[in-house]
This record gives sequence, structure tokens and C-alpha cells, in this order.
Amino acid sequence: MIHDIKFHGDWKRPGNRYSELDLKILTNERSQHRLIDKYKNCGTDFKFHFYKGTKNRWGTSLEGFKNPEWVKTHFGLDIQPDDDKISVLVTNNIGSPKYPLTPWIIAHRMSHAIFRDVSFDIYRPSMMGIDNFFGWRVGYEKWLGCAIGTTRSCRKRTLSRTGELYHELFAQCLLTGRVRLNHVEDRVLKRMRGKNPEYIHLRDGKPERLNHLINMMENEVYHVRSKFDCGCGKILVV
Ligand SMILES: [Zn+2]
Repeated sequence: MIHDIKFHGDWKRPGNRYSELDLKILTNERSQHRLIDKYKNCGTDFKFHFYKGTKNRWGTSLEGFKNPEWVKTHFGLDIQPDDDKISVLVTNNIGSPKYPLTPWIIAHRMSHAIFRDVSFDIYRPSMMGIDNFFGWRVGYEKWLGCAIGTTRSCRKRTLSRTGELYHELFAQCLLTGRVRLNHVEDRVLKRMRGKNPEYIHLRDGKPERLNHLINMMENEVYHVRSKFDCGCGKILVV
């Protein structure tokens, strides 16, 4: 649940690594209601801060959980986080102009931030497994990621790499309460049939290994989600 949304800086013009669409989405009252609505059942309490200004240089975004002193030094902002809430400081949308700052993309960016936070200590062995499932043949891992995942990006095949699947799954878990992945018996194998030679390999002995990786991945995302609330009392810089 989002308890408060604050804007810092000049939000009248695009720039400072926010597109016109970002501004439209964020400052529009209806969109703010939508943002609050999307997070209302997620089980974590938030306060959102949106920073727009010149201090969002490389090395100050997607930094993970920080204390108020760090935020004061790097952004000149006085943010006093509540002990029972995560304060999220959105510093830019440098990711890609293709993906405006929707409620989902904000959750996706939170995932990037916690994955870059060394203190959060995230270990994700299943990702290596998925990446190397077909050996080092470039392209299949992305294809496989899209076949396994159930998010919009997987359906539209816009995932750029397996790592992005993780962030999508975190967003899915945070906003819907569940991670949903396709298992080999159903759609993954069906999609492969007749389309490429890997189907033969997958059919002849590998489905169990892939299913094992899929289950692992699911558990890893749930684990990260369960650790996420340790960030209460801190500022998540995204
Ligand atoms: Zn991403």
C-alpha cells in the first residue's frame, strides 16, 4: 500500500532523464490513483518520492537501500523513512524511453535496485541454468525465458535477457502476490514443437532438468520478495 507520494523538483517540463510520457503518467491525478491502486494489495507499506533534477548522475540510481544521510549527500533531500514502511526514491527513468514509468516498471526498477545492492545478497543459480540450458548458443536463452514467463514482456517477446525475466517476476510477485511460470509439460514444449531442433533435446530427457530450474527460479523470486520487507525503515533508491 502506498501511503504518500511526493514530488521533488520541477515537474512541469520533461528532461532530467524523464520523458514527456513519464511526466504525463506521474503527475496526472488519475494515474496516481492507478499507481496507488496497483500497490494496494501488495502487503508492503510504501512512501514514494519522485526526484527530478540534475543530481541523478550515473552511480546514483538503482542503488538499493540507503539511509537518509546518503540521500541527503547525493540528492540534497531530507527524507526520514518510517520504520514500518519502505521509502522509495525514484531518481530517473533512464532504462529505456520505450518503457514509461508505469506502476509495473517502477516495481521492475525496484528489483534492479535490490539486485545491485550488495548488502541484499541475492543469489540466483537458476538464472545461470536457464542461460546455459542449451549450451552457449546465443538467442535460445532469451527465447526460453519468454516461453517460461507469463508477463506481458514474455508474451510480446520483448525480454532482452534472462536477467530481465527475474525483474519481471519480482514485479509480478510484488503486485499480484504470485510468481507464475509455465512448466515444460504445457506451453514451453508446445511452443517448441516442430519449430526448432532443441525440441528433440528437451523432449528426450531434459524436461525434468528444466522444470527443476523453473521451480528453483520461482522459489528464488519468492525468497527475494520475502526479504524485501527488511528494507522497511530505509530508502530504496531506484
Ligand atoms: Zn530491466
